[in-house]
Amino acid sequence: METVLITGANRGIGFGFVKAYLERGYQVIACCRLPDKAIELQTLATEYGDRLLIEQLDVTSSIDFDKLNAKYKHLKVDILINNAGVAAQYFDKLTLTQTNVDDVLKTLEINALGSMRSIQCFEHSLSFSSNPRIINMASLAGSISSANGFGYAYRMSKCALNMLTACYAKENTKVTSVALRPGWVKTAMGGEDANLETSESVAKMVTIINKLQPSDSGRFIDLELQDSRW
Ligand code: NDP
Repeated sequence: METVLITGANRGIGFGFVKAYLERGYQVIACCRLPDKAIELQTLATEYGDRLLIEQLDVTSSIDFDKLNAKYKHLKVDILINNAGVAAQYFDKLTLTQTNVDDVLKTLEINALGSMRSIQCFEHSLSFSSNPRIINMASLAGSISSANGFGYAYRMSKCALNMLTACYAKENTKVTSVALRPGWVKTAMGGEDANLETSESVAKMVTIINKLQPSDSGRFIDLELQDSRW
């Protein structure tokens, strides 16, 4: 049985991944900041029993990562989904002058460095897999060609995440590491006007993740761009 570990798994796209992988028979490790308040995850755990493990993880906390490292270091993880992310309120409307540097640091810490710490933590577990994959949840906002004069914190954080993906793909050629854009998805972050339901986006991403080849490592894959492979 393959094991998938998901960060930010209590709501939105992360929770969508949890449901999708449970339905497909995987072992799921669902990480979230506040397991006691993750009611929907707890409900799923009563249905799926030991196939769903719920773990506490704030991706800015080295204490949380150390605990998980001690627990999972010698266990196999096949797919690591670095999904946890934030976008400050009005993130897409703030100019440089309006941007608070502390907000930028916080956003970088969660969106980019959180994924970096996560890879450091679970690298050993991925080494036990015959087909290890890292999925970093990317955004068009991180693309330099899409830059405009707003949204510095989120854009810089997702740009850094792309670089993390590309560098790690070069460093560790045994793991297929990609930056995957989920499309524009109806979640707390994506908002009501988004054009994709969470379940729709997640189903497409699961198909893409299944079809990844080692030669894809380092790529930015956009779910909304036509690609005959998926
Ligand atoms: P949501 O805002 O719905 O969910 C964000 C998740 O991240 C929550 O589970 C939240 O947990 C968690 N999270 C936030 N901060 C931390 C932290 N410090 N440690 C651990 N978990 C944390 O967002 P989406 O589901 O829409 O987004 C998921 C990912 O997809 C993000 O990386 C986002 O940037 C990316 N993305 C989303 C798009 C969209 O259209 N929705 C488009 C492009 C990319 P909590 O409940 O505790 O706050």
